[in-house]
Amino acid sequence: MSNSTILVVEDETAIRDMIGMSLEQANFRWFPAASVEEARSRLVNDAPDLMLLDWMLPGTSGLDFVRQLRRDESMRDLPVIMLTARDAEEDMIRSLESGVDDYLTKPFSTRELIARIKTVLRRVGGGDQAPITIGPLTLEPSSHRVRVGEEEIALGPTEFRLLLFFMRHPERVFSREQLLDQVWGRNVYIDNRTVDVHIRRLRKALEPRQAEGLIQTVRGAGYRFSTQL
Ligand code: CA
Repeated sequence: MSNSTILVVEDETAIRDMIGMSLEQANFRWFPAASVEEARSRLVNDAPDLMLLDWMLPGTSGLDFVRQLRRDESMRDLPVIMLTARDAEEDMIRSLESGVDDYLTKPFSTRELIARIKTVLRRVGGGDQAPITIGPLTLEPSSHRVRVGEEEIALGPTEFRLLLFFMRHPERVFSREQLLDQVWGRNVYIDNRTVDVHIRRLRKALEPRQAEGLIQTVRGAGYRFSTQL
């Protein structure tokens, strides 16, 4: 985790340098970018492990940039922490829904920033990297590949994490609250229905391979990953 490379996309030099210094103190490598255009070339050339992305940037906004990245196969799973001066609840939900892994509202402490980075890196990369096979499904944590039989299926970052969590804890029922804690893992207010939205997307991705029945609704309790009907 230390020695991970962080891309800092922030147009305000003072904030960028302050973040960079804290990253160095925490033994991270980092690269600066002052705009989305610069960030694009950094992403290709420096292959960062995580991106800190300011919401308010000249030209393309941070939020639009994340949406573009999430449609890009090679960048879909890049962990992103959004830096924002906005704290309206709706903005947070929009950014989380757009595939941001976490967010920090300015002004934030550098301690808080480093803690959040470590948490996100642990969540996306941590744990056992060995492939998991259950029934027809195989998931490779290291390459983020999911196969049903021989066929690979495409999942969004949240659906991937959800499936990873389920496959690490098969045959157990989890409430929506538990799934929010374990898979989203943050303290912001997110509606429980967000879980349902991502469960639906996960099932939809599994459906063409007739594997959607693995994600089961347990009435009044939550969801379960099970190979038994
Ligand atoms: Ca800015």
